Amino acid sequence: MNILVINCGSSSLKYQLIEADKEEVLAKGLCERIGIDGSAITHTPAGGDKVTTEVPMKDHKDAVKLVIEKLTDEKVGVIKSLSEIDAVGHRVVHGGEKFASSVVINDEVMAAIAECNDLAPLHNPANIIGINACADVMPGVPQVAVFDTAFHQTMPKKAYMYGIPYEYYEKYKVRRYGFHGTSHDFVSNRAAEILGKDRKDLKIIVCHLGNGASISAVKNGQSVDTSMGLTPLEGLIMGTRSGDIDPAIISFIAEKDGITADEVVNILNKKSGVLGLSNGLSSDFRDLGNAADEGNEMAKATLEAYAYRVAKYIGSYTVAMGGVDVIAFTAGIGENNAQVRAMVGEYIACLGTSIDPEKNKIRGEEVILSSDSDKVVTMIIPTDEELAIARETVRLTK
Ligand code: AMP
Repeated sequence: MNILVINCGSSSLKYQLIEADKEEVLAKGLCERIGIDGSAITHTPAGGDKVTTEVPMKDHKDAVKLVIEKLTDEKVGVIKSLSEIDAVGHRVVHGGEKFASSVVINDEVMAAIAECNDLAPLHNPANIIGINACADVMPGVPQVAVFDTAFHQTMPKKAYMYGIPYEYYEKYKVRRYGFHGTSHDFVSNRAAEILGKDRKDLKIIVCHLGNGASISAVKNGQSVDTSMGLTPLEGLIMGTRSGDIDPAIISFIAEKDGITADEVVNILNKKSGVLGLSNGLSSDFRDLGNAADEGNEMAKATLEAYAYRVAKYIGSYTVAMGGVDVIAFTAGIGENNAQVRAMVGEYIACLGTSIDPEKNKIRGEEVILSSDSDKVVTMIIPTDEELAIARETVRLTK
């Protein structure tokens, strides 16, 4: 079965064509600047070179058409015709309380996704546009929605409620939802598989440390807490997002700088995190690591604050679950950044684990970092959200 996995942003569309039986990526690519001047598609067939073509794309429908053209192209294509695409799996950011698992898309599902637009105004409308574009270009091909929030729907009320008037939950569904669910599910599953254990018997903390970052507590196979909240702004210090702050900071800065609350929230999303903490040095951990190695104190302090926050969350989730068996690092920083892992490792040693400096040099591979005698296993597990979406799509359409 060939599954086309689609991840739509407001002006972008990422895709992978996955042969699901062998779980092989046949081709992948990215359409950028959709609806803006200078739009381009970058297409990479498996084993081939990346080809970037500048083509005008006025909307996502144009982008989907172009993806199909590339996938079926004589030179860079990997299938002969559209009929070789069996189903489409979409990453949908917010499923609210309506979706606790993936679903086959129909009119009712589309309406329910649209009802969640308020909760993710930048993401869900783009996801809907992508689904409609695929339905237009590939009529009759089944489509599946895989939600970033679904895995966390098992959180107990004590974990998802905020200490604010209850009416805001009743009126507007203000609560913790959590994101990166597909990754937290995939990585915690894989951790159990690698250890030859049943996930239902484990307490796992997954540290998804990418440009966006979140931590989850997965107890007996279910998410029981996670660091992102109503939106992805809460929790860890991220590339450009602040993570947890005193909410009164918003009105304080708004008043001092004569700007609106919305403008402050925009600063918290786009100009904060390690970018803001490093006084604009970089949001990229490679730059920060290099600067710290060269003695830049600001970069060092930024990395320290980042690792400290990660460690604090690991501590709190250990208590929340009544212990921890496995701590797994994943995503860009979690998989590749030995410096951050080592810094977090120093804090979590008190839980009865360690990070072997030699094994910690490994990048982007599955590896157990702790030693056999440790009480808690620490490991790196590369995430694969596209593969997880393809698996869900197969499960629901086969
Ligand atoms: P993601 O959002 O998962 O793609 O993660 C992006 C983050 O991962 C960026 O901050 C990158 O600097 C970081 N990253 C990716 N590769 C490396 C690497 N080799 N060493 C250090 N950080 C890396």
